[in-house]
Amino acid sequence: MKSHRREFLATGMLAVGALTVRAQDKPAADASEVSLRGKIVCLTEELDKRFNVLPDCDKQHHVYSLKTADGKIHPLLPTESAAAVWMDERFRQRELQITARSFPGTNHIEVIKIQSWLNAKLHDLYYYCDICAITAFKPGACECCQEPVEFRETPAGASKIIPQN
Ligand SMILES: [Zn+2]
Ligand SMILES: [Zn+2]
Repeated sequence: MKSHRREFLATGMLAVGALTVRAQDKPAADASEVSLRGKIVCLTEELDKRFNVLPDCDKQHHVYSLKTADGKIHPLLPTESAAAVWMDERFRQRELQITARSFPGTNHIEVIKIQSWLNAKLHDLYYYCDICAITAFKPGACECCQEPVEFRETPAGASKIIPQN
């Protein structure tokens, strides 16, 4: 069964390779960009409420996820772009708008950009070093001057920020 699947995948990849010549024919099983609104929950703790899964978040880690209004849960891949969710509780208190990559076969998302809804207006969430005038995804030392970066929440579009996508 497994080896059949592997063969299938291998031929599938060959087909994808052949198709890339025609740019407009995107393979169906590709990553896509999504924009999702919701709040951060820990998937383990959410499942514990309903199915008693016995979380061990303190010793391991929280499976932080975006829960959208329709109840769907999208776990965040632990990338640098999502690190602030683990490191700064403000990211877990606000209603967020997350731009992310979505992948076939999983609900996990890779964060591209995190924004918040504050007074019904979209805000950019990021960290900033005044000295170097550079932005960062997460709290800590500025990668340039090593001074601590500052948390910023500014109306969306008012500042130039991150995305290097
Ligand atoms: Zn947890
Ligand atoms: Zn700096």
